[in-house]
Amino acid sequence: MTSLDEALKTRLDTLREQNLFRELRRVDSAPGPRIEVGGRTLLNFSSNDYLGLASHPALKEAAVKAVDTFGAGAGASRLICGSLAPFHILEERLAAFKKTQAALTFSTGYAAALGTLTALLTKGDIVILDKLVHACIVDAARLSGAKLRVFDHNDLNDLENILKWANSGSRKPDCRVLIVTESVFSMDGDTAPLREMVALKEKYGAWIMVDEAHATGVLGASGRGLADELAVGHQIEIQMGTLGKALGASGGYVCGSRVLIDFLVNRARSFIFSTAPVPAAAAAAVAGIEIAQSAEGESRRKQLQSLAGLFKPETGNRKPEFRGAIIPVVLGSETRAVAAAAALREQNIFVPAIRYPTVARGAARLRITLTASHSATDLATLVRALDQIRH
Ligand SMILES: *Cc1c(COP(=O)(O)O)cnc(C)c1O
Repeated sequence: MTSLDEALKTRLDTLREQNLFRELRRVDSAPGPRIEVGGRTLLNFSSNDYLGLASHPALKEAAVKAVDTFGAGAGASRLICGSLAPFHILEERLAAFKKTQAALTFSTGYAAALGTLTALLTKGDIVILDKLVHACIVDAARLSGAKLRVFDHNDLNDLENILKWANSGSRKPDCRVLIVTESVFSMDGDTAPLREMVALKEKYGAWIMVDEAHATGVLGASGRGLADELAVGHQIEIQMGTLGKALGASGGYVCGSRVLIDFLVNRARSFIFSTAPVPAAAAAAVAGIEIAQSAEGESRRKQLQSLAGLFKPETGNRKPEFRGAIIPVVLGSETRAVAAAAALREQNIFVPAIRYPTVARGAARLRITLTASHSATDLATLVRALDQIRH
């Protein structure tokens, strides 16, 4: 063993002891409610493909057509070798979908967060995050060099106290203050009080960025997301999200003013210094947005809501007012969560055990995600298995 391998092995052994070791599970089938793993068919409750669009014929056909017309790879960054038409079509559709002036797409949601926060903020600025925001926002905030403050999850008093502190005597005139939250939280499934947060940011002269990764396609009229549903979209300076969850494709986006988008094209390093995504992904995302806004999208959302309604609150840690597709079953210790996921796999059900650092230590959980492709029978199978492993 090289000394690198020895050092890494020691660290991996520590992860194993703490039940935090992770490994990839090879899947030999397309995404869907049933997947092939190790020669077995598992009922799948792990995907963020909430509307079941990832394997939809319209998305696949759009992707194939784009490959035929525009090739398999983009060749370079969009600023270097020209910007392929599918990205422009996608950005027009996204801006219309989110009712903003403009949109910019990135290779992933992670890259969107990284590029945006580091472009907007610098040393001397202040970035204020909900305690439960996604790792990409935490990483982006750190990389930006801005002073980072965290408020307790969805706690408006705590947020207001930090805003007061930010505005206290020492705030320089050019110090920018940006609040970042998710609209539907990825590991808890609850929603942020966006109206109240927008009121606070206006009161204190801050900006706000909302990550709608788990709400886009799922919540609001035509699946436009929570900001649109609460009629605050026009007051949110930066709306971001992913094309890889309910929209069934791949990539990240930022929606906002024309000026914001022009600025990001010039300053977002994860956009500038990265090869454009494959055109097939953009074309599939366009088809995904179309379906999300169609009658079919509406009926898929209805199916999703009706499945979520079948979940008794006591099965997951799900309050009745939660409306997304995410059902956390918080078990506490990493050992219990891993054992529960293994017991479900024994029954041919795939639900991931979510552990540190995705959630806090001691807050390990099963994270069940429902999709419009599940049936009521699938759900009954899951609920029965969960009841069994609880006893
Ligand atoms: C998945 C996710 C992202 C990252 O999006 P990708 O396209 O998967 O990189 C960003 N924010 C939240 C809240 C997410 O859940």
